[in-house]
Amino acid sequence: MKNDQEHAILAVHGRGLDGMCAGCRAWWSRLAPYPCWQVEWATSRQARTSVARFLGGVR
Ligand SMILES: [Zn+2]
Repeated sequence: MKNDQEHAILAVHGRGLDGMCAGCRAWWSRLAPYPCWQVEWATSRQARTSVARFLGGVR
């Protein structure tokens, strides 16, 4: 299972000094409150992956 995309998103989309997403501003000159929807997506994907890994390890 590849999660490079999530890592890339989380690496770029950080909280800016003013509380807005720095990645969205750098990539699209768009102001989005942090965490933006891309961070939400990446973190939810990572959570699902780790839960699946945990359940797989138990079984
Ligand atoms: Zn963002």
